[in-house]
Amino acid sequence: MKIKKFTCNNCGAPKVNAYKSPYIICDYCGNFTDLDYTMSLQAWNSDPKRGDKYQKANLSFQSKLNESLIKKDKKEYYELQVKYWDVYYRLYPEYLPPTINFDDNFYYPFLAICADSATVAAFDPKYQKKAKTQQHLQGDMEYYTEKGQSKVKGEGFFRMINSYIDYLKEEFKLFYDNPEYALMHKVFPYDANLKMKISTLVQIWLPYLNEKDGKTFLKQTGFDADYIDPIKVEGNKTPCQFCKAELFVPENSLKVHCEECHKTNIIKTKFNCMGCGVENEIPEHPVNTIDCKACKLENRLVKAMFG
Ligand SMILES: [Zn+2]
Ligand SMILES: [Zn+2]
Ligand SMILES: [Zn+2]
Repeated sequence: MKIKKFTCNNCGAPKVNAYKSPYIICDYCGNFTDLDYTMSLQAWNSDPKRGDKYQKANLSFQSKLNESLIKKDKKEYYELQVKYWDVYYRLYPEYLPPTINFDDNFYYPFLAICADSATVAAFDPKYQKKAKTQQHLQGDMEYYTEKGQSKVKGEGFFRMINSYIDYLKEEFKLFYDNPEYALMHKVFPYDANLKMKISTLVQIWLPYLNEKDGKTFLKQTGFDADYIDPIKVEGNKTPCQFCKAELFVPENSLKVHCEECHKTNIIKTKFNCMGCGVENEIPEHPVNTIDCKACKLENRLVKAMFG
């Protein structure tokens, strides 16, 4: 199986293990930062029956949501949003962030955040103004037919999409700065969430672009990555601590995510300072450098291996 050429933005390690969902987790530090667009597309298109089911559910939700919006019933709108996200993730479990399981303490708080932010957006006049601007930009796009397929001209398209992506980035910053949504940093970090959102845009618009514009768009959004065979490194096969499925643990890894049960196996919890030898705890989210508690020397846990 080919995997996306990937360098962890936390520790610099390459991806080693194959993965089953669109999300990519580092096999060394457990950091969750990347997304494989082709896997996401595959999940979306894999089962037409599931697609139909989703379309039906979505239409029904959209009309009910619209009614609540007209009635200005925020509470009803929010409750519908919670149900919508629940239906969505149960139909497409591949899209549930790998840090969350249906039966753990994060799932419902996560749905609540999705629903709350959507509700705030729907009832805020600022967002409605932005939506109008986007509609105008979208209306200004010119379409033409190429080999029987409807295409959009690059100029108007890029004006529309760049404005939208800039807006998304601003909104994401506000969203992640909101202390009420603090859980998101843990379960669905900014980079991965933004990439997921942008990958949906790529999915929608790519078929309407000619080859040249399509390439530009993929490059601009960072979805033009190379696919390679997984890199072979030293390590051991061990049963997952939770589900007992076979798990490959690369040498020197701190944390390995199990693709079968979506749980993270903690491999190492302590390290010895390279200066004074004193034993230190490894924090839950290993950052690039950890200062020794005894001599304050800066230790690099993973990065040291990959420069
Ligand atoms: Zn890493
Ligand atoms: Zn497992
Ligand atoms: Zn030390």
